[in-house]
Amino acid sequence: MEPDRQCMICGLPVNNGAWLCIACERAYGLAIAFAGWPDWAKALKDDEQKRRRRIARYRGFTVLSYEEAGIEDLVYSGADDSLAG
Ligand SMILES: [Zn+2]
Repeated sequence: MEPDRQCMICGLPVNNGAWLCIACERAYGLAIAFAGWPDWAKALKDDEQKRRRRIARYRGFTVLSYEEAGIEDLVYSGADDSLAG
C-alpha cells in the first residue's frame, strides 16, 4: 500500500512533517530552511504535498480549510456576485 508520507525524492516512508528522508536531505543539501531550497526541490515538495492531501481526502479525513479543499474560489466568486448587486 502507498505510504501516507514518503520522501519526495526517493519514496522511502518518512516521519510526520518530513518531506524527505535523512539520506536525501544530506545528499541534496536540503537540511536547511525551506525558504533556502532550490526551485526544483520546492516543486517536488509541492507535488508530494498534493499527493498527501489527495490520500488524506481519499481516506475520509476532515479537510481543514476551504483552501485545502480547492473550493475557495467557488465560494468567493459566488459571494462577490451577490454583494455587487
Ligand atoms: Zn529519500
